Amino acid sequence: MKLSKTLTKALDDPRLFRQYAYVDGKWTHGDGGREETVFDPATGEAIGHIPWLEPGQILEAVDAAEAAFVHWRALRVDERCERLLAWYDLLQANREDLATIMTLEQGKPLPDARGEVEYGASFVRWFAEEGKRTFGETIPSHIPNAALGTIKEPVGIAALITPWNFPLAMITRKAAAAMAAGCTVIVKPAGETPFSALALAELAERAGIPAGVFNVVLGDPPEVSRILCGEDRVKALSFTGSTRVGRLLLEQCANTVKRVSLELGGNAPFIVGPDMDPREAAFAAVAAKFQTAGQDCLAADRILVHESIHDEFVGHFAERMAALTVGNGLESEIDLGPLIHRQAVEKAAAIVDDAISKGATLVAGDQTLAPGPNFFMPTLLTGVTHDMKIWHEESFAPVAGITAYADDDQVIEMANDTEYGLAAYIYTHDIRRIWKIMRALEFGMVSVNSVKMTGPPVPFGGVKHSGLGREGGVTGIDEYLETKYYCLGALGSVSGS
Ligand code: NAD
Repeated sequence: MKLSKTLTKALDDPRLFRQYAYVDGKWTHGDGGREETVFDPATGEAIGHIPWLEPGQILEAVDAAEAAFVHWRALRVDERCERLLAWYDLLQANREDLATIMTLEQGKPLPDARGEVEYGASFVRWFAEEGKRTFGETIPSHIPNAALGTIKEPVGIAALITPWNFPLAMITRKAAAAMAAGCTVIVKPAGETPFSALALAELAERAGIPAGVFNVVLGDPPEVSRILCGEDRVKALSFTGSTRVGRLLLEQCANTVKRVSLELGGNAPFIVGPDMDPREAAFAAVAAKFQTAGQDCLAADRILVHESIHDEFVGHFAERMAALTVGNGLESEIDLGPLIHRQAVEKAAAIVDDAISKGATLVAGDQTLAPGPNFFMPTLLTGVTHDMKIWHEESFAPVAGITAYADDDQVIEMANDTEYGLAAYIYTHDIRRIWKIMRALEFGMVSVNSVKMTGPPVPFGGVKHSGLGREGGVTGIDEYLETKYYCLGALGSVSGS
């Protein structure tokens, strides 16, 4: 497909918009002629097509990653890291184009897309630095005349399967760690948002990352994942997406006993203590709920407010929510873009109907004001209880549910009443309450009095059905490293040792 006029005009560098897969350093068509159309969720217009690779072509990507691994792992670590830094510089230099591509395919407002490019790039820089610090250990020997220690080695080829809500950062958070460790990668982005991944490939090539180190395959998701998960030469799978698909992939990896990291769904509680200023807490809750139009694994899905300030909190929340603007993310002054597709809008409507039918009150959320079929107006429900879908399921939509609680023990029980365990928020200034609740929460990440919690230095990840492993931080690279223990025997005695 030729580039649309809008796109050609919108991009400074149209070569960043690629409609091919990227395998072994080559832009690749699908051999079988299958393809998928990608739509702008704001307008419903087609923005491009991507090929679906055939099973044999997915195996060719594995061949390429296998061949490239030999050289990439052997490269001096500082050379590997220099190339990652060059990639980082290119991501920064092309931030506007990357953000435009992201807004077109994902729908998020341009400022948010720019923020994601920065966020995604920051992982590349972080792991370019961390790659130099994959130290082994020296172990005091209990074996006579022997030296013992460990060496860290790359696991091999890593398959990276990613979602549509953060089309760039969910790739770099994995790929930069894997590549810094010396692994080669095969990325399978979500079919809704492939163009950010392909722009990353274009920039990786320009950064001097050798052919076969960073590959992007496109195709039928179940078919591609069955091949990658079942392939013995692929040594690690890192997946970000829904818990449903994560479970499937974990099963598919069992036969080849792969290293598996899973970043799955969240259903974050947002706990507001009785000592809080209701206005300050309500404004923070709005920020934590409505980013990416609620399509965020960190979204404040269950807002739990102490009964003594509940009514005031609801008033401020509704007021702040009413000020949010909804529209095409390419326009200025937009807070919420569209949902990713029509099914997401239908799911949001069903979740709201379910809650109302079970006794919740609809405070705001007039869907007749939606500026298009894929939009969902910010919605506020009060009186949310645990028998409602909104309590247990990720709404992945701008639907906020508020519940009043009586005391700390009750709110801890409510917060933990979910299969998920990714992130939780606490708003209170009472240090004893913070400590008690923070320790009792069954979540991988707890943010106290702050909406922002993520970034390269922190270990991102969940417990329970929210996943396995951590991304980012000093341990994120470990997902792609093996520890090799060595025992050097028969060394003879060394005086003084
Ligand atoms: P999804 O699970 O539907 O899709 C994720 C990826 O899996 C995509 O690449 C998709 O093409 C592929 N896929 C879909 N069905 C498949 C199947 N049957 N077999 C193999 N692969 C398949 O998730 P999504 O809708 O793209 O993303 C939203 C989900 O991602 C939410 O649950 C959200 O919480 C989660 N998420 C988690 C994090 C985190 O860091 N924990 C971050 C972002 C998103």
